[in-house]
Amino acid sequence: MDENYESVRAAQEIWPQPLSDPKQLYRNFYDLMHKASHNIVCAYCGIIRYDIDGFSLVSTNNKMLAPLAVNPATVPFLFDCRITAIDQHHIMIDPLAIKDQNTISICNNCYSQLSSGSLPAEALANFRWIGPVPEELKDLTWVEEALVARSHLFGRVFRLEQSEAWRANIFITQRTYRIGPTEHHEALRYSTNVTRFAG
Ligand SMILES: [Zn+2]
Repeated sequence: MDENYESVRAAQEIWPQPLSDPKQLYRNFYDLMHKASHNIVCAYCGIIRYDIDGFSLVSTNNKMLAPLAVNPATVPFLFDCRITAIDQHHIMIDPLAIKDQNTISICNNCYSQLSSGSLPAEALANFRWIGPVPEELKDLTWVEEALVARSHLFGRVFRLEQSEAWRANIFITQRTYRIGPTEHHEALRYSTNVTRFAG
């Protein structure tokens, strides 16, 4: 604790430190934002991320896809992705991860597990498939989605514009809904935490 205190004191004495080259700072910021502004889906676990450094591109003929093969008789829907090299071996992937007929994207977590020859625990092929969304559940509002989900965690940021009567405020909400019987036989339970920042 003493060392930590001394390091804080030393940092305060030399604060503020001179900035490095502003143009280089801007270039670094631009490059980082550019890399983190993509919508990329993992073919194996279906997760969506935004940083291209967290993904690898893999050939659709790569033998490391073999652990993703599933028995079609156990899946109650068609999961063909229209890539022959994958469909002929009944390999289940998320079609949103297809870059072209020869390339799919996978997250680094799944890549490391498949490189060792094991099936990623989060893979859709590990009995985690849900199939296509039914027509009745498409185009729901986020409130309706929260109400029909058995368990759903989400956050929202609301920005209220400044008006004559009110200052601009930003609300950050975190809510957890659990719908269905609980150990106390409650039909619906939810908790809400709201943090308010004056703008
Ligand atoms: Zn993944």
